[in-house]
Amino acid sequence: MGTATCWFLTGSQGLYGPETLAQVEAQSRAVVDQLGDAGTLPVPVTWTPVLTDPGAIHRIILAANADPDCLGLIAWMHTFSPAKMWITGLNALTKPLLHLHTQANVSLPWADIDMDFMNLNQAAHGDREFGYIQTRIGVPRVTVVGHVSDPATQARVASWQRAARGVAATRSLKLARFGDNMRNVAVTEGDKVEAELRFGVSVNTYGVNDLVERVDGIAAGEIDTLVDEYVETYDLADGLAPGGERHESLRYGARIEAGLRSFLTEGGFGAFTTNFEDLGGLRQLPGLAVQRLMAAGYGFGGEGDWKTAVMLHAVKAIGAGAPGGTSFMEDYTYHFGPGTPKILGAHMLEVCPTIAADRPRLEIHPLGIGGREDPVRLVFDAAPGPATIVGICDLGDRFRLVLNEVTVVPPDEPLPKLPVARAVWEPKPSLPTSAEAWITAGGPHHTVMSTAVDTDQLAEFAMILGVELLVIDGATNRRDFADRIRWNQAYYRLAQGF
Ligand code: MN
Repeated sequence: MGTATCWFLTGSQGLYGPETLAQVEAQSRAVVDQLGDAGTLPVPVTWTPVLTDPGAIHRIILAANADPDCLGLIAWMHTFSPAKMWITGLNALTKPLLHLHTQANVSLPWADIDMDFMNLNQAAHGDREFGYIQTRIGVPRVTVVGHVSDPATQARVASWQRAARGVAATRSLKLARFGDNMRNVAVTEGDKVEAELRFGVSVNTYGVNDLVERVDGIAAGEIDTLVDEYVETYDLADGLAPGGERHESLRYGARIEAGLRSFLTEGGFGAFTTNFEDLGGLRQLPGLAVQRLMAAGYGFGGEGDWKTAVMLHAVKAIGAGAPGGTSFMEDYTYHFGPGTPKILGAHMLEVCPTIAADRPRLEIHPLGIGGREDPVRLVFDAAPGPATIVGICDLGDRFRLVLNEVTVVPPDEPLPKLPVARAVWEPKPSLPTSAEAWITAGGPHHTVMSTAVDTDQLAEFAMILGVELLVIDGATNRRDFADRIRWNQAYYRLAQGF
């Protein structure tokens, strides 16, 4: 892949004559320039020539579909572009679409406005014609209204670009599972064929000993380099540093990291899963290695949870470059009070250091399950702030995403005896309503927590892919939420057709 871009499509028609079309071109170039000059878009926008006939529209949409560097299309009907011209093209569209309803001028030139001006600047009805045909065809899209110089408009475009980047990430994703799912667990199961149809992700299993072979073959020099990096990046617990009595365990942790990274890089994988029940010849459950690979953008799910691994990779792609971090997470245990009720989340070992409040501490402790040597892991508290938590489950006939808006808070007190990275949060609208809604929706215990991605971005990601999303936020109440589940049940079954 080269550099990802979004293509800017301008709609018009031949009726206006070359002079007007030249003005349309100049003004649509200016819109694209303003988007670029804003400096706030995560993905550049590429201008394309003004479209005035069905053949050109169809051709550019087919070209967009075929270009892996084209993340999506931004369309604006500058003048009146009779929308039957768009039917064949829009019907073929497979890329995300943003309909930017804007115009060249901010203010009306009240004193000077004449019929020429009216005829040139008529997006107000040209874009309504375009909206009609998109709705008639059923094109999934985001509609954004505003002048391009308005930061609020730019922010909406940026948000959609991030969602489109998440879609591109899952559509090109290859996921490696080391072993199967944890035995007898229900929610981590799922339909891998349906996942490839819906998300584009290819999910395949590898024998864990294929990984072990790679891990055992790592050269000492590569381990030395990683250990140097650990010493520089983290505070090391007593005994882990070079010369310490537990240093060999740290070196083995580095060996796992190098082996995993090499396996994933060589196979072109962007996400992976492990299972503590199936570690083959691995001497430690991968903890530190998984944490560091998540920080590098890899999706991960524990206990064979490939669906959460897909979502983690997608959310990391959506949030890339934004402040904050994104991690694998699991609801662990509650604080009902005193004070505001909270959730303590963690995983056995695998929480991503991109959400850490401070420099993580590299520690080694026994692990009760798995029956292996003590694993090395990074320990930290998550940074406070607003966050989204999203989970995915397979309902048999479709995937469902459940999202909760939360506030990550500092722990009420230090947690000196807890040997894992963790996050403490207050869910919206409250712990009881959040958890009741989540559980009623059948939401999973494994999730993705992100302080880099917001609800709008995830809602647009879900909309583009046609995946159900249930949002639990400050406005959620139990009865309405239960109704929404029932309505969705009907809607998604009808929307699938027969
Ligand atoms: Mn788990």
